[in-house]
Amino acid sequence: MADAIARNVVHLQERIAVACRRAGRRPEEVRLVAVSKTVPPERIREAYEAGLRHFGENRVQEAQAKRPALADLDVTWHLIGHLQTNKARTGRELFHWIHSVDSLRLAEKLDRAAEPDPGSDQRAGRGVGPAEDSRRLPVLIEVNLGGEASKSGVPESAALELACGMSDLETVELRGLMLVPPYSEDPEEARPYFSRLRELRKVIDSARLPNVRMDELSMGMSHDFEVAVEEGATLVRVGASIFGARP
Ligand SMILES: *Cc1c(COP(=O)(O)O)cnc(C)c1O
Repeated sequence: MADAIARNVVHLQERIAVACRRAGRRPEEVRLVAVSKTVPPERIREAYEAGLRHFGENRVQEAQAKRPALADLDVTWHLIGHLQTNKARTGRELFHWIHSVDSLRLAEKLDRAAEPDPGSDQRAGRGVGPAEDSRRLPVLIEVNLGGEASKSGVPESAALELACGMSDLETVELRGLMLVPPYSEDPEEARPYFSRLRELRKVIDSARLPNVRMDELSMGMSHDFEVAVEEGATLVRVGASIFGARP
């Protein structure tokens, strides 16, 4: 099993490098986020031993349950799934990056979560999670470019306004955009969505908002990451091609 994961990682990194070459990009511009949802801690550790340092989970509760068994690893954790506003504090404690901001209310909750919780005597617990109080939390706006009712994310037309609202926040830093395009077997069908996200990034970037650094595009999964890399992805979120198909 460990061998399979290590082989998968090497193969993936090669494919990312080849896609970068095709697009005239450098492989260092693309970070591989290993999506470890449903994957038990032992196998996450195997991927870590194979050299991966960025991991993504889509549910706060699952991440919370697995984290103690992985506390000794030097991992950058990414939240890639929808975050409910009432879990913003826990989300901030558990993750270094949040890819899925889809409302100003959530962004504000994440901002306030940098302060100690007035409702509990949690001072001793500070510093246990990745979130340090002085740190600015890097976040992305999730954009629902396909307009799918089943998906979270803001519509394209609302992204700039959300970015403007977020530029006032003190401990949250908008770093870019995230996308899950409508599913298609053919990765080429995702290409127009990837390029639209890249254009939207440019539009928001050219607004020159304070506290906003639009340098990241989180897009591309197991079946379409090469196309995403060609279109400018800086964070690709890959699960099945590392850990095997999920049950
Ligand atoms: C599960 C998931 C992925 C990874 O999908 P794979 O097909 O396993 O690579 C990427 N992004 C999000 C938001 C996910 O929920």
